[in-house]
Amino acid sequence: MSDTIERIKCLIIGSGPAGYTAAIYAARADMKPVMYTGMQMGGQLTTTTEVDNYPGYPNGTDGTAMMNDLQKQAERFGTEVRFGLVTKVELSDKIGGIHKIIVDESKELEAETVIISTGATAKYLGLESEQRLIGGGVSACATCDGFFYKGQDVIVVGAGDTAAEEATYLANICNKVTMLVRKDHMRASKAMQHRVNKTANIEVLYNTELDEVLGESVVEGARVVNNQTKDKHDIAITGVFIAIGHKPNSDLFKGVLDMDEVGYLITQGKSTKTNLPGVFAAGDIQDKEYRQAVTAAGTGCMAALDAERYLGALE
Ligand SMILES: Cc1cc2nc3c(=O)[nH]c(=O)nc-3n(C[C@H](O)[C@H](O)[C@H](O)COP(=O)(O)OP(=O)(O)OC[C@H]3O[C@@H](n4cnc5c(N)ncnc54)[C@H](O)[C@@H]3O)c2cc1C
Repeated sequence: MSDTIERIKCLIIGSGPAGYTAAIYAARADMKPVMYTGMQMGGQLTTTTEVDNYPGYPNGTDGTAMMNDLQKQAERFGTEVRFGLVTKVELSDKIGGIHKIIVDESKELEAETVIISTGATAKYLGLESEQRLIGGGVSACATCDGFFYKGQDVIVVGAGDTAAEEATYLANICNKVTMLVRKDHMRASKAMQHRVNKTANIEVLYNTELDEVLGESVVEGARVVNNQTKDKHDIAITGVFIAIGHKPNSDLFKGVLDMDEVGYLITQGKSTKTNLPGVFAAGDIQDKEYRQAVTAAGTGCMAALDAERYLGALE
């Protein structure tokens, strides 16, 4: 039975910058990588038209075009890119053990090494106007998109450390930042709250929620509501930054791989090694700090090198 099951030396789960960079390195090391793309081929960057901070593109680039280039580069060295969703894993805890992977609930594979690069998904509020204007002034990443709002007024929705960090980052670039905090206090650490409070161009509105993003194709303002008094008012802004957290795409690995309370995979020291031998994690799935394409690509490279060394040590 088992001789009919395909055996893969290096299986890569996910087709974002981490997955493709791992593929480029693994293919050049003759590990014959096979990648399963998941439902979002090319990952998160395919949802943006402007990537201005990835090195090597002096005039910036379109996210989808960049991911197509990465795919071509990975394929040039022999990566096999397959459309499919990994739906189940049975990971071995033995050094040199074979990992069982199920794709699309039916196809069974065996893998000597597995690189997990399934990313994380930004959480949104779910308002119709917010969803419609993603890319037209609504963003979930200040580091990525803040620059486009230089000198303008923006709002940040959220009350945790990420929201506080995004607000202070934007305050350096924008004219004014209004933070909408749902409760009567922030969840952010005292240190981050202090940074927010001492930044002159950040205004915090407590007990306040985003009711509607105004504008047809680009953001022209925000209607906010005080959840105590139910009073609504409009704020003239051009950018809306949603900073209410991310969900790492790690449900498949619950109870199998070490993860933090939110679901980010935990890697060992400065490596991409997970708690199981031959299983590595790269990109946003193991990084709640930086979450950038270039950092994802960097850890993708590390994962391929870690996988290559792991296999080398078995010989
Ligand atoms: C709108 C937007 C704009 C951004 N702009 C920038 C920017 O300008 N600059 C920048 O540096 N960063 C930007 N980012 C952040 C950047 O996109 C991420 O940091 C980066 O894409 C993370 O790469 P990744 O490879 O870890 O995962 P992702 O890009 O999240 O890719 C994850 C991949 O895993 C796949 N997958 C998930 N589950 C499975 C499964 N079960 N089986 C198989 N495959 C699976 C998905 O289909 C996807 O291909 C932006 C993000 C967003 C949302």
